[in-house]
Amino acid sequence: MPHIITSLCVRDRGCIEVCPVECIVPGPSSEGWTMVYIDADTCIDCGACVPECPFSAIYPEDEVPAAYTAKGGEYINKAGLTGHYEGTNHHGKQVVLETTRQLEAGEIVDLTADIKVNNDFFQSGPGYSAKDSDQGS
Ligand code: SF4
Ligand code: SF4
Repeated sequence: MPHIITSLCVRDRGCIEVCPVECIVPGPSSEGWTMVYIDADTCIDCGACVPECPFSAIYPEDEVPAAYTAKGGEYINKAGLTGHYEGTNHHGKQVVLETTRQLEAGEIVDLTADIKVNNDFFQSGPGYSAKDSDQGS
């Protein structure tokens, strides 16, 4: 059972370097792949990426919440949303996203759809080739 990055991911990138099998890949935002994704076929389920994420976006697949209760103020990030997010990532680089929505405290969000998105990224999307064009933000 692999780990999954959910749409709570705002591309901080702290998770990428700690993965011992290098199976975490940032998607090309310009092509609609707004998050960072885990290759389920390669993930060895070590859990090293989980504490590295300041946004608590990573879960074991069988623990991805179907009813995530928002603390309030956090963002979800996925194609089709139109909200603005701006921050600084793990490497001090600016991150600007126009595909977000800020959650209200107590709002319930189903994050399980992100399991398929992680898999689609590697099966029918750019997958590991996205590393070649990665700009670091
Ligand atoms: S550390 Fe969290 S927010 Fe940053 S890229 Fe990884 S999953 Fe996304
Ligand atoms: S659980 Fe381990 S192997 Fe899987 S993505 Fe996270 S760091 Fe990589």
